[in-house]
Amino acid sequence: MKLVLATGNQGKVREMSDILAAYGIEVLSLREFPLIGDIKEDGDTFKANAIKKATVTAGLAGLTALADDSGLEVDYLNGAPGVLSARFAGEERNDFANNIKLLHLLAGVPPEKRTARFQCVIAIASPGGPVHTVQGTCEGVIAGEPQGEGGFGYDPLFYLPEYGKTFAEIELELKNKISHRGRALEGARDVLIRLSKAEKRSDKL
Ligand code: IMP
Repeated sequence: MKLVLATGNQGKVREMSDILAAYGIEVLSLREFPLIGDIKEDGDTFKANAIKKATVTAGLAGLTALADDSGLEVDYLNGAPGVLSARFAGEERNDFANNIKLLHLLAGVPPEKRTARFQCVIAIASPGGPVHTVQGTCEGVIAGEPQGEGGFGYDPLFYLPEYGKTFAEIELELKNKISHRGRALEGARDVLIRLSKAEKRSDKL
């Protein structure tokens, strides 16, 4: 089975190719489909954005496509930055500026009110077929200041009480296991295995 990953992020392509190759799924990236341009993420929810990216890509590529959309929800900010996570401090998608803005908005807020979660929705669409979605969540607390050098985005501020560290301080292998994306990918793997088996059966007919 061939699967197109609807993301321009080569890190995500590498991570997912590794996992899916073990199940006989050949992963193609958008690099192999240069005519598929940027797909605008203009939905109100992670799910709407993931579904849009997966269905548009599947339609244009003529193959099953997988897309993900993710972001941070902070309870004190009523769920912000949410779907605007990448562009929280402006269109230029600056991680540093996003973190500074978040710290400003939470200045003086005590730890027990700084609860937050990362959300990830993965959508899998086949050309003209149904769309499957799976979700992954990871709960944490927004730290008072950045901690750690690893990761990306809000990782230096996303503190995991059970590990006593932020996402930027833990090993990537552990992050991949417990993160919103890792958990959603686990669910996606089951959907893909089912689709792959169904495809093999219909090839035999
Ligand atoms: P996207 O799903 O690649 O569009 O990511 C949206 C935005 O959410 C990113 O630009 C980050 O700001 C934030 N984000 C999503 N996942 C993570 C994560 O694992 N760590 C830190 N920030 C994240």
